[in-house]
Amino acid sequence: MEETRQHRSLRAVPNDRTLHDWKNHWIHDETAIYCAQCLASQSVLDAQAPFVHHRGCGYAHPLFAHYPWQDLARILRADMLKELSRP
Ligand SMILES: [Zn+2]
Repeated sequence: MEETRQHRSLRAVPNDRTLHDWKNHWIHDETAIYCAQCLASQSVLDAQAPFVHHRGCGYAHPLFAHYPWQDLARILRADMLKELSRP
């Protein structure tokens, strides 16, 4: 639990609340996510690690880390629950 809270306090992407927002910042294929600005990539195997942008990327944040795989999972889970709870 403590670890989850720590990760959350490091987040920089509270704007990525919907799939639409997420897709504005990230590009994905089956096994990797790419920053739409600097095209740095992260494998799904590193989903628990903070995303590392290329030097000078405008979307990188000096104090906070991005966890794009976790954000995507959270968004999809929320969408699925919404869908399932529809009468
Ligand atoms: Zn970047």
